[in-house]
Amino acid sequence: MTRFIFITGGVVSSLGKGLSAAALGALLQARGFKVRLRKFDPYLNVDPGTMSPYQHGEVYVTDDGAETDLDLGHYERYTGVVARKSDSVSTGRVYSMVIQRERRGEYLGGTVQVIPHVTDMIKEFIQADLGDEDFVLVEIGGTVGDIESLPFLEAIRQLGNEVGRNRAMYVHLTLVPYIPSAGELKTKPTQHSVKELLGLGIQPDILLCRCDREIPIGARKKIALFCNLREERVILAQDVKTIYEVPQAYHAEGFDKQVCEHFGLNASPPQLKRWDDITGVIRRPEGEVHIAVVGKYTHLLDAYKSLAEALTHGGIANKVKVKLDWFDSEIFEQDDAVQQLEGVHGILVPGGFGERGSEGKIAAARFARERNVPYFGICFGMQMAVIEAARHLADLSGAGSTEFGPCADPVVGLMTEWTRGNDVERRNEAGDLGGTMRLGAYPAVLADGSRVAEIYGAHEISERHRHRYEVNFHYRERLEAAGLRFSGTSPDGLLPEIVEIPNHPWFIGVQYHPELKSKPFDPHPLFASFIKAAVAQSRLV
Ligand code: GLN
Repeated sequence: MTRFIFITGGVVSSLGKGLSAAALGALLQARGFKVRLRKFDPYLNVDPGTMSPYQHGEVYVTDDGAETDLDLGHYERYTGVVARKSDSVSTGRVYSMVIQRERRGEYLGGTVQVIPHVTDMIKEFIQADLGDEDFVLVEIGGTVGDIESLPFLEAIRQLGNEVGRNRAMYVHLTLVPYIPSAGELKTKPTQHSVKELLGLGIQPDILLCRCDREIPIGARKKIALFCNLREERVILAQDVKTIYEVPQAYHAEGFDKQVCEHFGLNASPPQLKRWDDITGVIRRPEGEVHIAVVGKYTHLLDAYKSLAEALTHGGIANKVKVKLDWFDSEIFEQDDAVQQLEGVHGILVPGGFGERGSEGKIAAARFARERNVPYFGICFGMQMAVIEAARHLADLSGAGSTEFGPCADPVVGLMTEWTRGNDVERRNEAGDLGGTMRLGAYPAVLADGSRVAEIYGAHEISERHRHRYEVNFHYRERLEAAGLRFSGTSPDGLLPEIVEIPNHPWFIGVQYHPELKSKPFDPHPLFASFIKAAVAQSRLV
């Protein structure tokens, strides 16, 4: 029997609904249940693929090639359950489906309305593509009170009625702020937020109260009284030191116990050893390494969420703390500015788009190569490293990427054709921007005796992609003669996937995004190995 847990948020955004959902998912999983997590976003974009990372943070890519909200990254990192396209739905997608049906005449001449047609479509998406899950956790993006989220709240209200209260539960995340001048915690914002929900016909079953300190019993009683629930259903979500402490913190507050009680489940206590191990290492690291991340969206850290987490996981694998120094690559376009990288233990150039700052990334790759500092280039970071090697090792001074316009030596160029399973995918310059990159999981074959084959301990791997350009294989021989090795390719040998410099302590560029598959309890081998190299580097400098 599949049960639905709906997670809404109130008062302000950024309270960490996604993490809360992920942590609850992990706790239910630790009690032996099968879970699936889904995100419903109220914006009108069909998916976040075309949204700026400045506005929306990173675009998380699933194996099946969907460009999704970054919360799906949290879900995967906490539960290991592989997210699918069906787990990320926006208003834009809901409306496009409704309009498609209307055009096909499927509404039989009826007037198409938000209720019931849009709400029915939302309910369809909530229940689509499920198997034998015990729990489906559905996070509703935005904040209660937003105009855009109304159809979603109405849909989950209806669904709760339809499946019955023993199969549905509403969790509401709110803020309990401390007002220094009054020296008090304030429960009023929570009361208002719940009132808003009640006005929409939803009585929350659990209130998750974000607070920077303990909530005294009196305040808890007050919240319970005014919000119409039992006191033990008012759960404190206190700020914690690392996000990986959240599952244990919730468990200590009785969150998962209350959820089980609501559904009348007499489940065994959760196995939390996995989380104890992770937080143990994070709390007591045996050393520290400094990694320079040279990117573009460095003042909005959500833009590199999975990357930052994967680096932390690399630290867990090596029992060290990974300190990230964020550099806006544009600064390295000034004379000697790249010398600021002096003393870092590793340099990472992440994925990116567009010309701005690209020369700074090329300068960072050059610094790493020439100074024997571990270098990890991801997607754009690989492409920039190849351009750098082409210019300075292979004598191709006009090397560049056609992403920035025509150039003398298009070492990186537009991908016009590739295969996905038995199908050939084709693109040209004039195509749509949304959803048309080479997206999702593709296999790659690793060259025998290469460093990556050793790191992965495998011959064939599968990794997630999101790119429109690729390293131009016409230059392969020339680049290999200059010291670069193409150590991973698509199985048909036509697309470059990995480059490495054998004659360097650790220099690897990958066309895919390994950060998307790293988990705290299963750090990605490339991140584990990169941090290991950084530890070795830290002993030298
Ligand atoms: N802009 C590059 C491309 O489209 C790299 C993309 C990325 O880093 N995700 O190929």
